Amino acid sequence: MQSKQTSSQPHTTKYIFVTGGVTSSLGKGIISASLAKLLQARGYNVTIQKLDPYINVDPGTLNPYEHGECFVTIDGAETDLDLGHYERFLGTPTTQANNVTTGRIYQTVITKERKGDYLGKTVQVVPHITDEIKRRIKLLGSKHQYDVVITEIGGTVGDIESLPYVEAVRQLRWELGANNSLVIHLTLVPYLAASGELKTKPTQHSVKMLLENGIQPDILVLRTEHELSPDIRKKVALFCNVEMDAVVQSIDVSTIYEVPLMMQKEKLDLTVLRKLAMKEGGAPDMAAWNSFLQRFKNPKSTVNIALVGKYVELKDSYKSIIEALYHAGAYNDCKVNLDCIHSEKITEQTIDNLLQGKQGIVVAPGFGDRGIEGKILAVKYAREKNIPFLGICLGMQCAVIEFARNVLGLTDAHSTEMTRSTEHPVIDLMESQKGVTEKGGTMRLGAYPCKLKKGSKAYKAYGESQIMERHRHRFEFNNEYIDSFEKAGMQPVGINPDSNLVEIMEIPSHKWFVGVQFHPEYQSTVLKPHPLFVEFIKFAKE
Ligand code: GLN
Repeated sequence: MQSKQTSSQPHTTKYIFVTGGVTSSLGKGIISASLAKLLQARGYNVTIQKLDPYINVDPGTLNPYEHGECFVTIDGAETDLDLGHYERFLGTPTTQANNVTTGRIYQTVITKERKGDYLGKTVQVVPHITDEIKRRIKLLGSKHQYDVVITEIGGTVGDIESLPYVEAVRQLRWELGANNSLVIHLTLVPYLAASGELKTKPTQHSVKMLLENGIQPDILVLRTEHELSPDIRKKVALFCNVEMDAVVQSIDVSTIYEVPLMMQKEKLDLTVLRKLAMKEGGAPDMAAWNSFLQRFKNPKSTVNIALVGKYVELKDSYKSIIEALYHAGAYNDCKVNLDCIHSEKITEQTIDNLLQGKQGIVVAPGFGDRGIEGKILAVKYAREKNIPFLGICLGMQCAVIEFARNVLGLTDAHSTEMTRSTEHPVIDLMESQKGVTEKGGTMRLGAYPCKLKKGSKAYKAYGESQIMERHRHRFEFNNEYIDSFEKAGMQPVGINPDSNLVEIMEIPSHKWFVGVQFHPEYQSTVLKPHPLFVEFIKFAKE
């Protein structure tokens, strides 16, 4: 988007820092994305960055149970799932620079120390670590000419590991000067049912903690289950030293996609613009967003979808897939009734019961052997019963294994990820992966081109013959088996033009059976639902 600032003015990027207090999971990511959306809808060029205080260099090595989904950017960065929200809300891509961890900060500083960049000096948290944090924050603004950079500080104020970040923010605010930065602090106003009261004390304490670290927040966003009365707002404003209009209520809503409108009602965008001395411009153009929301909230029918995976206990593990299904549902004017099914529970005996009545089946990505046979059974069920099927990454690999075993009769066919010694390695380690020994950041990652076969289901969905999709895997379809698959009725319809790797497998005779080696879910946004998900839901609905 074109920046609102004219080219004759020197470009100044404004910085907004979002911190959290009292407890985690207050929705800093959604508030950041919602504010960004409102500023974007007023014509500003905005990006959002997440700083994560853990020591892993990136979340790529984390189990989804630990940290939810790992989101992959175009440039192949394995990042926090909040970046998925940023992209879904703003419709603009993020990159590695949008997610920084303590591990990455320390790695940079220690590498510099070894090179001798600090020769003679003691390397310390302050100033060396805090300087590197500040550099990473400013880099995003200066490199891309954003009008506003919103930086979300992960964790909760008061955590030991957050301290260097809070100190970096304190220093940056001083360096940037008046009107160029502000701090939004998110807290919780709990409701005590016994006394029937909303309590502001946790907010007061949390702001005190920030003050102890040298930061006076400019705006407070209070998460609450009940409406905040003017009296409560006044009390918070008085005790926490903020203006009345800087106390913003964030009440629980039925969908995250309502939060931007709720923040607009609270005038969060106007307060931010005033405090940053930026022009208001016209009212934010939220027409397309509103129309999505109307369709999302007023479905004309329901479609029953099964999502088969092994991390289903934690819904965040499949965040982007679930949101992509919802986007596609709204686009088809139907409600996606999602049943997340644990693949370990699927056996020959239980499958009918578990998948009965499902109009579409998604088999999720994943790693390792656990639950794999349940996924393969789910594919078989979808294939034999002509139920629309979307297999993603490992889900596509399961579709290939199932077809090899049950149609080609290669009964021991498998992926060498699961059984190294299988006689029929229909899914095998990519050539480029064979010498790889380190686990972190070494998969086939990021966006790659894919050429689609005209007339295929995928081609019909995309409406174009060359696409770009994001990847995160080490194993691939084994091209030695292409002929046998094609003869038996499963076709490679998406090929990487440079490496000849098979990226999409389809069964043309099936109602809608598509397996993709890439992750389409990462590219689905509110205003641009992903074509494969849209088509999958469309066929499931029929
Ligand atoms: N484990 C498989 C691979 O590495 C699939 C990965 C995935 O589903 N993201 O190829």
